[in-house]
Amino acid sequence: MNKSIKKVVIAGGGTAGWMAAAAFSKLMGKNLDIVLVESDDIGTVGVGEATIPTLHIFHRLLGLKEQDVMAATNATFKLGIQFENWHDVNKDYLHSFGFLGKDCWACGFQHFWLKGKQQNMVSEIGDYCTEHLAARQGRFAVLPNQDYNHAYHMDASLYAKFLRKFAEQHGMTRIEGKIADVLQHDDSGDIKALKLENGELIEGDLFIDCTGFKALLIEQTLNTGFEDWSHWLPCDSAIAVQTEAVQKPIPYTRSIAHQSGWQWRIPLQTRTGNGLVFCSKFISDADATELLLNNIEGQPINQPRVIKFKTGTRRQHWNKNCVAVGLSAGFLEPLESTSIHMIQRSIVRLLQLFPAHGVIQADVDEFNQQTKIEMDNIRDFIILHYKVTDREDSRFWRYCKNMPIPASLQHRIDMFSQSGKVYKYGNELFGESSWIQVMMGQGLIPKEYHPIVDLMEPAELQSFLNNIKATVKRKVDTLPAHHDFVQHYCKST
Ligand code: FAD
Repeated sequence: MNKSIKKVVIAGGGTAGWMAAAAFSKLMGKNLDIVLVESDDIGTVGVGEATIPTLHIFHRLLGLKEQDVMAATNATFKLGIQFENWHDVNKDYLHSFGFLGKDCWACGFQHFWLKGKQQNMVSEIGDYCTEHLAARQGRFAVLPNQDYNHAYHMDASLYAKFLRKFAEQHGMTRIEGKIADVLQHDDSGDIKALKLENGELIEGDLFIDCTGFKALLIEQTLNTGFEDWSHWLPCDSAIAVQTEAVQKPIPYTRSIAHQSGWQWRIPLQTRTGNGLVFCSKFISDADATELLLNNIEGQPINQPRVIKFKTGTRRQHWNKNCVAVGLSAGFLEPLESTSIHMIQRSIVRLLQLFPAHGVIQADVDEFNQQTKIEMDNIRDFIILHYKVTDREDSRFWRYCKNMPIPASLQHRIDMFSQSGKVYKYGNELFGESSWIQVMMGQGLIPKEYHPIVDLMEPAELQSFLNNIKATVKRKVDTLPAHHDFVQHYCKST
C-alpha cells in the first residue's frame, strides 16, 4: 500500500546531495523531515567547477543572491567554452552562451551570415553575438538593464559548503557516517533504511541517491541497470589538479584537445582548475599525468588525482522509492559542463512530481521519460564535438571520426550540412545558436542557405549584417574588464 512521504533521506553530500538538501529544505522543509548522510572519510569527487546559465534558475528558486554565491565560492563569470584543436590542430572556436544575430522572421541568422560569407560581407560569426565578443575581449558586467547569458566557474567544495550552511539554516539534519548497508522492505523491495557502520539505522520514506559513481542505492541495492554509451563517448578517465592563478581570470573555460582526449582550464578568482579527460585505451594514466603537468600554468597546489568513469545513464533514474541524482544517475563526461545542470533538473522535476501521498508508477514513468529525453539530447550534442572533426592524427581521433553515431544526431548533421537548418525540440537544453556555433566551429559549413535570404538586395543584406555587428560592438565596448568587475561585484555583497 502507498505510504505518505514524510521523511526524505539523502545519501551522499557532494554537489548533488547538498543541492538536493538545499532545495528540499527551502521549498518543502516545513512538511518534510529531511536528513542527509555523508562520510567525511570517503569525501566527494571534488571536480565540477564549470556551470551553464541555467544555474540561475536554481539560485532564484532558493532565493540566493548571485553576489553571495560568487563571493562564497571564489567564482568568476563564464560566457562560454573555447574549443582549441577540436576542429583540427591549431584551429579554435568559441561556443558562447549568447544568441547569434537577432531573431529573424522566417529563417535563422546563420542563413543571412552564410550568404554574407559567400559575398565577402561578414567577419566571423561570433562578431554577431554579444556574449561571444565579450568573452573574446575578456569583458563582462551584470548590468541592471542588460541580462547577458552567463554562468560561473566556481570552487565545487566551497559551493557544497555554502549550500550545506543554507540547508542547515532551513532545518534539515546532517548525519556524518559511513553507510555500511542498505536495507529493503521484504515485500516491495523498497528501500527501508540506511545502516551506518556504527550500527545506526536511518529510516526514510523516499531516498535520494547522491552517492556518486558508487550508486549505492540505485545500483548496488536496486540493480537498476546502466545504459553504456562509451562506444560514442569513449573517454573513461580524468586527472585533475589545481594550480595557483598566474594571470587574471578570463570569462570562459578552455577545452584543449590532445591526441587521446582533452584538457580543461577553469579560471577561478585565485586559482585555476585543470584536468585531462582521456581514453585509457590510447594513453596510460602515467603518460596522461605527464601530459597534463606539462601543459599547466602556475605551480600545482594539490596532488594530481585520477578519476575513473563510464559514460552512460542509469536505465531508470527513479526506481521504487529511490531517485538517483548526480553521478549515481549517470555521467556524460564534462565537455559541456552539463552535470550540475542535470542535478538541478532532477531536483526540480522531483519537486514538481513529488509523491506526497506515496510513490505511484505514473510519476515514476514521467520522471524517467523526461530525464531520458534530456539525457539523449545532451548526449548527441556532446558526441557532435568528437564526430565532426578533421583530426585524424591519432588512433583516438580516427576512432571518433569514423564511429557510428545515434540516428538522431546523424539527422541533425545531415540537415545542417545540406541546408543550414537547425531546430530545437521542446525544452531541449542546447538551442539553435549552440548547435550552429559547434557545428560550424567543428568545420561543418552548410552547402546552402535558405532561399528567403535572396529576397534581400545585396546592399540591404550588407546593412542588416553591419547593423547587428555594430550593435554588438557598441554593447561590448561599454563593458568593463571581467576581472575588475568580479572584484568589485564580489566585494559589494
Ligand atoms: P560525489 O561528489 O562523488 O559525492 C558523493 C557523496 O556520497 C560524498 O559525500 C560521499 O562521501 C558520499 N558517499 C559515498 N559513499 C558513501 C557511503 N558508503 N557512506 C556515506 N557517504 C557516502 N559537472 C559540471 O557541471 N561541470 C563540470 O565542469 C564538471 N567537471 C567534471 C569533471 C570530471 C572529471 C568529472 C568526473 C565530473 C565532472 N562534473 C562536472 C560532474 C560533477 O563533478 C558532479 O556532477 C558533481 O560533483 C556531483 O557529484 P555527486 O555529488 O553526484 O558525487
